[in-house]
Amino acid sequence: MKTVSECAYLAAEGLSRPIPLERFLPNCPVGVVKQLLDDLPEDKWVLDPFGSNPLLDIEAATSGHRVLVTANNPILAFLLMILAEPRSKESYLAALADMASQLRGSERLETHIRNLYMTRCVICHNEVQADGYLWQRGMNRPHVRLYRCQVCGEEGEHPLSEEDLQLLEPIQRGEKLPYARAIARVLGGSQEDRPAVEEALKLYNSRSLYVLFTLLNKIDGMDVSVEKHHLLEAMLIVALEAGTSLWPWPNSGEPPRQLTVPSVYLEKNLWKELERSIDLLAQPVTGVELTFWPVLPKGPGICLFRGPIRALEIPPSFEIGRILALPPRPNQALWTLSALWSAWLWGRESETRFSQVLGRRRFDWHWHTLALHQALQRTREIAGDKAPMHLLFGEPSPGMSLATVTAAGCAGFHPDGIAMRDSREPIEINWSPVGDMDKGKVGNIQSIARTAIQNRLEQTGEPADYLSLYTAVIAALEVNDGLPREISQFTQEKSSEIQGIIARLFADRDFLRRFDDTSQELDSGKWGLVNASPGMETMADCVERGVLSILQSSKSVSGSDIQRQINQKFKGWLTPSPTLIEFCLRAYSDWDPQTGLWTLRAGEAPDIREREIDEIARLLRSIAKKLGANVSGSNPMVWKISDGQSYHLWVSTTACVSQYCAVLEEKVEKVFILPGSRAELLKYKMTRDPQLRERVSNGWHFLKFRALRSLSTRADLTPEIWQMLLDSDPITLEESLQLRMFG
Ligand SMILES: [Zn+2]
Repeated sequence: MKTVSECAYLAAEGLSRPIPLERFLPNCPVGVVKQLLDDLPEDKWVLDPFGSNPLLDIEAATSGHRVLVTANNPILAFLLMILAEPRSKESYLAALADMASQLRGSERLETHIRNLYMTRCVICHNEVQADGYLWQRGMNRPHVRLYRCQVCGEEGEHPLSEEDLQLLEPIQRGEKLPYARAIARVLGGSQEDRPAVEEALKLYNSRSLYVLFTLLNKIDGMDVSVEKHHLLEAMLIVALEAGTSLWPWPNSGEPPRQLTVPSVYLEKNLWKELERSIDLLAQPVTGVELTFWPVLPKGPGICLFRGPIRALEIPPSFEIGRILALPPRPNQALWTLSALWSAWLWGRESETRFSQVLGRRRFDWHWHTLALHQALQRTREIAGDKAPMHLLFGEPSPGMSLATVTAAGCAGFHPDGIAMRDSREPIEINWSPVGDMDKGKVGNIQSIARTAIQNRLEQTGEPADYLSLYTAVIAALEVNDGLPREISQFTQEKSSEIQGIIARLFADRDFLRRFDDTSQELDSGKWGLVNASPGMETMADCVERGVLSILQSSKSVSGSDIQRQINQKFKGWLTPSPTLIEFCLRAYSDWDPQTGLWTLRAGEAPDIREREIDEIARLLRSIAKKLGANVSGSNPMVWKISDGQSYHLWVSTTACVSQYCAVLEEKVEKVFILPGSRAELLKYKMTRDPQLRERVSNGWHFLKFRALRSLSTRADLTPEIWQMLLDSDPITLEESLQLRMFG
């Protein structure tokens, strides 16, 4: 069976800067784009066919490249423009002040809007601005107000008062007006999309819609520069998102994907949100030049094509060196809201093509596969036969794996490198353009999938999560003709057939078993082989040795350096989590908060540890003598005691126990003796690997060097006391563990 070769996982280095709408966008890990483009000559263009996250293009341009972005979503295109060339905080404050001083009747606009959120403190009875209100879905009034009183410090959730309800009354009486405007601005003369718009408008309650339309109308009428208009629009986009009911309470942190109002949601104070938007928009970052196609930036920068990639024509002289693809997941909420907002901000006509999104009713994976294919096929045509593609799944899921790999394969790309780390982090796949595709006969999906799972699990010697196994299956199907070569053959039936075969493999209890599951969902818990061979060294143990060898060869090393080296050594499916790397580091080295460097402890020098092993072995022999045991072998040292009890004892300077797990005889007591500084690492390995935990659950004892030394000094040692004291100093995990390396 053919396999996709495995490449080094490029991990994020640093924390992502917060941007508007980020919970709707695929995750773009910081620093990865820079690493991906490291070897690309600066005269070659980078093409981003999806324009799904502004940070992707900004990082590519900041690292010295010229990026052509196609962005079909006018809201994301606008955000890219605003974020690429960040404006100062003062400019935003000035624009907001201009808007605040507009008149609404005889009242300042700011006062008018703030008054809609006025409430009274239950303790000191002073007036305060509510931060927000909690609503139950379907009710016509909130049930809770949230505020923090500036005078007495009282804060939290309080029931609504009569005064709060009176504020809502005039808005609710006149609510038809902004509602009618909100519909009219999207529909124009046509009525076709009316049901879709009405559906989307259910995401706004009457106060939020009133405030937003008051602001939109004011901005429309303000006589200010184009630049200031842009700043106001940017702040308004933040408010438009804040004003939706898509804020579950308490916050689940789950990105909203459907147009479904949570059962309890938070209505935010939109004037406060406008003020907050400034910190989000005006961040102290260097800008990059941004132009609109066909005008090109002079040096490194971004050229933005506003429209779908199928409408982009580029001259033959235009040379694309690399494709950077961060495909989005199907997201009805983002696309529908973007269509609504762009019509509200800029009118329906200017964005005719995009407003068609409103009429769309399908957001399923099959439809998404066809859409991704359309974009990638045009990408392949434009980029020609030389440009490789880096594809990141920023929001990985089984559906995303199948959709993206099928779409890229049918668009004329061949996968030549894959890496994934954790199921919540981006999956990375590198692709090369292929010429005439070999239309071989369709491979046996069931047998390819089964072999892929078997190989994947044997490779790491540890159970794996569902997404990782599923993605390994999809990658194997792609290179073994298990997926269709033509997108027309990827029918709904074909897609169901493939998923059905995979589901049956996961249901086969003679093949796979599940650990630590908390629900019936396939992605709950971890999956392992029923016939896994017990003495195989696990990935975690190999990583521990890898980290140790790096520490031994370099005096001091930073966390990100270690991570890069480890990811180079343990590629593809073997990529360890940063937490595992950090536990390995803590077991052998000290971290200096001043320099951020890890240094091997003096006591870890190989010759010192070797002498220690000899010492421990000597102590073991002296204990054996006291117990009257018959001793043989060295590692394991085997003790047979007269009452029939026998022990296998291993002395180790590492926490690598997996290779010894092949000893299955239940009657034998197994003792693993290790330095105390490895105990935490070993405990962590058991926490993350349920198979290891199971293997060492019966008849295993973990004895620290120091505990053995103290046992050896006892004069009263008998076989009974020895057995009793073996577990008196158990290995544990510190409860409030602070991981340092990755923030
Ligand atoms: Zn108060």
